[in-house]
Parts: sequence; structure tokens; C-alpha cells
Amino acid sequence: MNAKTGAKAPAAKVQRNLFRWRKIGAKHVVTNDHGAHTFLDDEQLDELITGRVKAGTPLYEEMRQKGFLLEDTDIQRVADAYDRKVSFVYRGPVLHILVVTLRCNEVCTYCHASRSNMSETETDMSITTAEKCVDMALRSPSNTMTIEFQGGEPLANYEVVQHVVEYGSAQAQARGKRVMFSLVSNLALMDETKLDWLVQNRVQISTSLDGPKDLHDRNRKLVGGSAYDRTVFWMKRINEAYVAAGLDPQLYHVEALATITREHLSRAKDLVDEYVKNECRAIFLRPLNPFGFAKKTGEKVSYTATEFLTFYNEALDYVLQKNRDGVEILERLGAIFLSKIMTPDDPNYLDIRSPCGAGIGQIAYNHDGSIFTCDEGRMVYQMGDEVFRIGSVDTLTLKDVVTSETVKSMAMASCLDGLPGCAACAYKPFCGTCPVFNYTEQGNIFPQNSTNSRCTIYMGIQDRLFRELQSEDPTVRGIFQRWITVKDRPEFMHDGRHLGPS
Ligand code: SF4
Ligand code: SF4
Repeated sequence: MNAKTGAKAPAAKVQRNLFRWRKIGAKHVVTNDHGAHTFLDDEQLDELITGRVKAGTPLYEEMRQKGFLLEDTDIQRVADAYDRKVSFVYRGPVLHILVVTLRCNEVCTYCHASRSNMSETETDMSITTAEKCVDMALRSPSNTMTIEFQGGEPLANYEVVQHVVEYGSAQAQARGKRVMFSLVSNLALMDETKLDWLVQNRVQISTSLDGPKDLHDRNRKLVGGSAYDRTVFWMKRINEAYVAAGLDPQLYHVEALATITREHLSRAKDLVDEYVKNECRAIFLRPLNPFGFAKKTGEKVSYTATEFLTFYNEALDYVLQKNRDGVEILERLGAIFLSKIMTPDDPNYLDIRSPCGAGIGQIAYNHDGSIFTCDEGRMVYQMGDEVFRIGSVDTLTLKDVVTSETVKSMAMASCLDGLPGCAACAYKPFCGTCPVFNYTEQGNIFPQNSTNSRCTIYMGIQDRLFRELQSEDPTVRGIFQRWITVKDRPEFMHDGRHLGPS
């Protein structure tokens, strides 16, 4: 009302933002592009769809605040929220995977990397090639990045690992960049001298732990010994070394990954117990990839999406129970989705984002300097198909890589807004599709979602998480809130503070 004239102010113009919904339990989960969500009953959803939500009601205010209904003054705020949610697209490649050798001292039933024997030193990366990879990585527009050592077993080419850390750290400082070095190792070649150097040079270490000894040793064979014994021995030693170096054990500890095979399906609790026993603070329940040796041994180790989801839900129940009992352990895959659902940011997990990270968020460098969209693309190459090979570090610039036809195709194939099925899915703002997986499972980098097992798994996991959120159990909310709290590890960041031993 205008106080002077008494004339009524014109009603604010309101428009509906694009939204999608899916029935979960008694209510519908309703989402929009910038990742806001709400739960509506049948009547409320009908009001939203038909434009009957009355101004001034609590529902109207909630819909405005979350950006489902837009008055003119809301548009910039919602646009900014969307910009923030997808800000990863501006950062360029932040993960650079160096396959420093294909040699490996273990033989795993599901090996993705297509290993070579320890005598095949021709599959070692040279120092010259390694420096070219580091130079390319540091040309990324991002000021912060990770260089990850993969294999084979990277400790089999330890000399190059050391050189990359020293060279990369110095080059990063010279260019004003911050770089983290991450070693993914089975730890069987670790010794005290290497451990001392790696801790002093702040190289983050992660490993594979596939469960209790019988399960781990059946999956991962180490000639002349138990792979499990070596792994858990060194996990303990690394954690002790971090403490001795004055690092906070809450933040600095070995991360372990499990590869879930058919044998795990009936052993969910055993697996979680093993992680708790080894003082892990996270467990990552990743479904098996059909790459590398895993395809050949597929029937023995693989399972259906439904079987995986049954396992996942049982394991998640148990992880939540452990948390209720006071044990702080998070499930990483669930935590990635929860970060997207419960915060205004995206955690930039490169395999679950839209578009995915292939070439624009990560690059994999093979031992001979060949460049791939990602490590999974390299694994397909090791199987004899070079579709995801972009070229060589000897001849390409970073710009050549990012603007290559291969990378553009991957971005198109993983941009969910343009994919039938995904474009209308309530989980589009939080989800991702993997073109390498689609190509391997379905023969096309574009997914056919009705039969795509990864889609079934991601949908099932998000159904479960939204069911938990809808229940409004304060204990579960508190656990989830802890899981999504980002904890920086500044001591692992090479930013000129620690060049060489600190
Ligand atoms: S293609 Fe697949 S593995 Fe490669 S970056 Fe994209 S999602 Fe990740
Ligand atoms: S992959 Fe499946 S769950 Fe994910 S957005 Fe697409 S249709 Fe939805």
C-alpha cells in the first residue's frame, strides 16, 4: 500500500524455476539446478506444478528461499548459487595422475591397471618424461592441484617419485602454485628409509585394504608372503610416523580404498570392522569397474547393480550404527553425494560431476608420456583400445589437450543436462555419468540409462540418502553433517613452506 495515495502496490511478479521430482517414501523429493531440495506431499507438489502456491504462506516463502519460485529480486541470487555450484568448470585440470610404472609386485584378481612383471623395467617412466608431465600439470589455470602417483606399483619406480616431488615442489613455488603429492601404493615395497623421506616431504599416502586377511589375500596375491600383513603393518607405521612428525592424527592418517568384489557381498560387516580395527576414518564403497583384468575375470568377481545396492545398504546401516556407538567413520561415496545435497558447493569429485572431469578436471599420463582423459581411459588403452588416448606429452600443450575432440566429446557425453533420462531426473544436480564406463559396459560413451548399472547404483544410493534426510532423525543428520565437514590438510600442501625435509 502506498501511504500517500492509498493505492495498492502491484503484486510481485513470480515465476517458477525449473524443477524435477521423485517419490521417496511418503513424499516427493523436489530439486532444482543449483542443488536446492525440499520434500513435498502430493497436494503441495500439485500446487507448485499448477502455480497455486499462495503468496505469504510458509510454503511460498520456502519455495522462494530455495529458488523454486522466483520474484524479480531473486533471479540474481539464484544465478549466483548456480554459478557457485558448478564453479569447478572454471578451475581446469586439478588432478594429474602419473603412471610412473606398470610394474607391480602383487597380482590382483580385479587388476584395473594391466600390470607388468617386476622385470619389465621398460614400463618405467623416465625422469625426462616425468618433468614434462609436471610442467604440463603446472600450466593448469588452477592455483591448487594434486599430482598422484599410480601404477602398477609406484614404489617400484621410487627414484622418479622422489624426483617428481622435488622438481614439482620447486616448480610450483616458482610459479606461485600449490601442489599436493599423493602416492597410491600397496605398501609391500615400503621400508623405513622410504617412509622417512615420504613423511618428511609431506607425500600423502593411500593404499588398498580389501577387508579381513582371508578376503584381502584372496583378492591380492603377493609372491612369498601375505599382502594383507604387509599392508596393515605399514598402515600402522605410517600413522605412527605422522604422529612422530607432529601431525594431528585426526587429519593426517593413511587413507584406504576397498575394491568390492563378489566375495564382499556377504561380508559387509567384516569389511567395515576391518577398517575400524585399522583406525581408518573413512571407507569408500566403490563398485567394481569393468576395466583391465577385471573384464577378463568378470564372471568371478562382478555382480549386478541390485546386488551391489543390497550390499551397500547393509554396509551403510552398519557404518551408521558404528557412528551411533561413537566410532567416527564415514562412507566416502555417500559423503560425496551428501556434500552435493546438503551444501551450496560441489566437492569436485571428478567421476561424479556434470560434465565429468575427463581432460577438463583430470589428466592421466602413462609411463611413456601418452596422455589420457583419465586413468580409466588409460586402462581401456591397456586393454588394446586407444579411443581415450589424446596424444603425447612430447608434442601437445595443455591447451591442445583440453580443446581436443576427445575431451570435447567426453564433456558432451557426461553433461547431464543434455542426456535423455538424466535431464528429467530429480538427482541430476548431484549426479554424474562416466563415459569410459558407458563405453565399456554399453559400447557408447553416451549412457543408455534404463540398462546402465552405474545409473541404477547412483539412483539407489541417492534414494537411500534422501530417505534418511526425509526421516529427520537428528542423530543421522548430525552424523551426515560431520561427514560433509571439509577438513583441509595444509601440511600436505607444497606451497614453498616445505621444499625437501622440514
Ligand atoms: S570418463 Fe569416467 S573415469 Fe574418466 S573422468 Fe569421466 S567419470 Fe571419471
Ligand atoms: S545417471 Fe541415473 S540417477 Fe544419475 S541423473 Fe542420470 S538418470 Fe538420474
